[in-house]
Amino acid sequence: MPTPDELPTAYAEFFTRAFAKRDNVLLSPTFLFECAEAVESLDECIECGKPIINITAFGEGIGEHYVLTDEQIERLEEALEDSGVEVSDDDVCSDHV
Ligand SMILES: [Zn+2]
Repeated sequence: MPTPDELPTAYAEFFTRAFAKRDNVLLSPTFLFECAEAVESLDECIECGKPIINITAFGEGIGEHYVLTDEQIERLEEALEDSGVEVSDDDVCSDHV
């Protein structure tokens, strides 16, 4: 399991790698999921087991790790919601909302 120590040192590097897109498709969803796991914000859908990222836990975990401001956390959560991966605060994927 990835640990917070394995996250990129600089927040800018983390953000760029996690949310880089081409043609509106995320380039490295695996990296994003690993980061989510590192800050213990990775859940799975209680109906189908699909991995989902808990938005609140992700914002808090990454925010704590990089000592982010509230504005940065807000931007981070927006980027996560726009990323196209499954995100939820309710432990259900988009098919099971
Ligand atoms: Zn599901």
